[in-house]
Amino acid sequence: MSRKTNQLALLDASGQVPGCKEPLFGLNSERLSALMEEIGEPSWRGNQISEAMYNQYIKEISEITTLSKSLRKKLTTAGWQVGTPAISNAFKSQDGTERYLIEFPGSGPRAETAEAVWMPEGDGGEAGDTANDDPTDWRRATICVSSQVGCAVNCQFCLTAKLGLQRNLTAGEIAGQVVAVLDRHQVRVGRDRVNLVFMGMGEPFLNYDNFMAAVRLLVREAGMSPRRMTVSTSGIVPGIEKFAQEAPDVRPHLAISLNAPNDRIRAEVMPINRKWPIATVIDAVRSVPLRPRERITFEYVLLGGVTDRPEHAREVARLVRRTGLPSKVNLIAWNPGPGITYTTPPSESVAEFQNILVGEGIPAFLRQPRGRDIFAACGQLKRTIDTDTGSGRFG
Ligand code: SF4
Repeated sequence: MSRKTNQLALLDASGQVPGCKEPLFGLNSERLSALMEEIGEPSWRGNQISEAMYNQYIKEISEITTLSKSLRKKLTTAGWQVGTPAISNAFKSQDGTERYLIEFPGSGPRAETAEAVWMPEGDGGEAGDTANDDPTDWRRATICVSSQVGCAVNCQFCLTAKLGLQRNLTAGEIAGQVVAVLDRHQVRVGRDRVNLVFMGMGEPFLNYDNFMAAVRLLVREAGMSPRRMTVSTSGIVPGIEKFAQEAPDVRPHLAISLNAPNDRIRAEVMPINRKWPIATVIDAVRSVPLRPRERITFEYVLLGGVTDRPEHAREVARLVRRTGLPSKVNLIAWNPGPGITYTTPPSESVAEFQNILVGEGIPAFLRQPRGRDIFAACGQLKRTIDTDTGSGRFG
């Protein structure tokens, strides 16, 4: 048997190592309750395990003191573990932003790391999400979460694209990034307010079922509000259509990564536009039922000389107005990365672009670059280890 076949033989169909059970983290109360019944315990024990993992951030079965000692022993002897994703490396920016490499216990040979980012004051991206927001209300911590390791979408301005797609993250691995970061900063849901943005590595709508299962875990088990969550898509139309069917009590805000004023330029910077051009994406977005005063966000990365000219701003204003959707535009000056030849526009061009949009009656906000010095800013996530040179560890 070759070495490769040998390695494959270690995996069962779910990618788990035989004898090692899947982590409890990632199972919801119903599945935990069913598991308890299967091993001859009352089903309400499942709720106790959920509370321990998702609200108290307990990482070891032996520390779940609401369970009897004998049950804790029974679970560990049978090979169960909590398996909360863990922060393996942390990089701290001068502006307080922290970028983490997160590893996933129990994923055996598939254990690539993903990245999450903590922004203590957010980056302004949530400003104006609803029409009557207090303009200072977004100034709260924001966690940026990954949905895949790497990404297949290949946006030309994005460092994550350089990794290609390594694999989808499971629901537990997506929700677990949030719990690992909440635990590190001693954030308690209900007492402290925090925003989540699914804008880290990967395209959430190309890992749709796991992404939405993670949102349900965060809402129903961890008690977070979907109104404090935003998912950004590059315009995966089947994903947007599915998203439109989700119940409002688990549906985050929707952001479309627009990044260009028309199909010609967008197809250059985002090849996915050849499959789903702007009008097709907008048609799909129209099927998403918005809550009262909710807005669709159009994310727009300004690339110096490519998408940042005044005529582009006027074209974006016309495009957004023609959608007829309650919407706003988030502007992001491109964050540089090694091996990508775009330039960051000067701050005057960014200000002029914003002024033109606002002058045309389009709400437009500037997302602050957070953690550029540690490769934590938008489009910079590629598991960089050496922040002096930007060299990364791939795969
Ligand atoms: S911007 Fe988002 S969708 Fe595009 S390549 Fe990067 S991670 Fe993927």
